[in-house]
Amino acid sequence: MKRILVLNWKMNPVTLEEALNLARASDYKDVIIAPPFIFIEEIAKILKKARIGAQNLSWENSLTGGGAFTGEVSASELKNLGVEYVIIGHSERRKYLGETDEMINKKVLASVSAGLKVILCIGEDSAIRKKGKKAVEDFIKNQLENDIKGTYDIKFKIQNLIIAYEPVWAIGTGQADAPEDAAEIIKYIKKLLIVSYGLLVRVLYGGSVNGKDIKDFIKYDEIDGYLIGGASLKSSEVNKIIQACLEK
Ligand code: PEP
Repeated sequence: MKRILVLNWKMNPVTLEEALNLARASDYKDVIIAPPFIFIEEIAKILKKARIGAQNLSWENSLTGGGAFTGEVSASELKNLGVEYVIIGHSERRKYLGETDEMINKKVLASVSAGLKVILCIGEDSAIRKKGKKAVEDFIKNQLENDIKGTYDIKFKIQNLIIAYEPVWAIGTGQADAPEDAAEIIKYIKKLLIVSYGLLVRVLYGGSVNGKDIKDFIKYDEIDGYLIGGASLKSSEVNKIIQACLEK
């Protein structure tokens, strides 16, 4: 399976037993499981093929920052736990926790410095989408520039950055984007990253993908994989998505 699947469990499940069962059912190559922090250590012990990711991190460094940031988790702590990837800039954190592009940029820089690979989420809301293609492209260009500012100096490598294009209005709503529209925007993002930064980057789609509509998305080669939220909590759905990716 060449396509990447990022399984974002968000704040689920509530017991370790459920988390381990779900992880076992999703343990395939090219799958990145992003559980809540509290389950990471135990899940990392049982995974044979899938990789492990975190859903967030602090931009502060435990060592140089003195660690006085109650409730936060640093890049080096994650790294020492065996975490390989970290999701940054998810729209739920931007919306409910007030994360700005500036904060996201600091998190990206902290991750790259610590050797964590970044899954950066970007995407427009419905008001921007309604304004048309140019408005969406301008918004994405701006978000991307602000979020990866300064990484140029650290020299991002292709394997260290994954972009998840997630139109905000499609996340958790059951209303996925039209696959052809998502593919068009993903093409734009890839071109932008090559032209402006010389970066050949994998770009995923995220937003209400499930075991049924994956068949429509999979036809588009420019979509390098999927970030799955709700459906990642049902092993039957995960299985259908994985099968569709394997069959392609
Ligand atoms: C997400 O969490 O980014 C996401 C895409 O969720 P869902 O698949 O539920 O829309």
